[in-house]
Amino acid sequence: MGRVENYLNAYLEQFKAMKEREHPTPPADNVFYASQAGGCMRKVYFEKILGRRDFDIVTRKKMLVGDIIHDFFQEHVLPKGEGIANEPTLKIEQEGLVIVGHADHVEMSELDELKSTAWLSFSEEKPDDGHVRQLMLYMKALNRSHGQVTYIEKASFKIVEHAIKFSEKIYDETIEGFKRIYTAVLTKKSPERLEGFPNDWHCHQKKENIKCPYFEECERTKPGESGLPATEAQDVKAN
Ligand code: SF4
Repeated sequence: MGRVENYLNAYLEQFKAMKEREHPTPPADNVFYASQAGGCMRKVYFEKILGRRDFDIVTRKKMLVGDIIHDFFQEHVLPKGEGIANEPTLKIEQEGLVIVGHADHVEMSELDELKSTAWLSFSEEKPDDGHVRQLMLYMKALNRSHGQVTYIEKASFKIVEHAIKFSEKIYDETIEGFKRIYTAVLTKKSPERLEGFPNDWHCHQKKENIKCPYFEECERTKPGESGLPATEAQDVKAN
């Protein structure tokens, strides 16, 4: 490993430590992040019962590129001024659940969720369902009837924008998803795997050999089993 790469890795370690200081305790079982609506709910379950695990260094570097692009658009490209906000904190409280998040960019009548992506091709025709669910939560929290998911290709800055109308049905399904995970966490019964497991890109990106941080537990834990280490799983059974 070269000198500059060492500096970058040291920066990423410092950044990770700073983030851990910002969030020293994990959120309560009934508290979720809006961004989790876009991912695998079984992973959210494992995060809750086994504790949050950090991404590997390759993934963290990719995420850094995404963060830099977000900051660039928010700081230099999108408008600023009265009634315009970047990353406002939003909160939904419903049926005992608390869902928190930060919308990327909010104007008087616009709501933008920015997503940097390696390949626009996967999202050119239609936005990712998970990103739509995440946007629904922001629309609900802000009482908006429409919003937009914007994909920015990392290597070229090509942009694809998808205007999305609020759908009560998708919003309700999203809340139901979180309710199911909350129940799973309370009963310590893991939900189903993603249909595409083990080859879904959330599970394993073979080209770069990046795996979900809970891949091993997911593989050996049948849906309905807790996924806890053996001694703790015994305690759950005894109760
Ligand atoms: S390995 Fe795949 S299905 Fe299992 S928790 Fe991770 S993302 Fe979900």
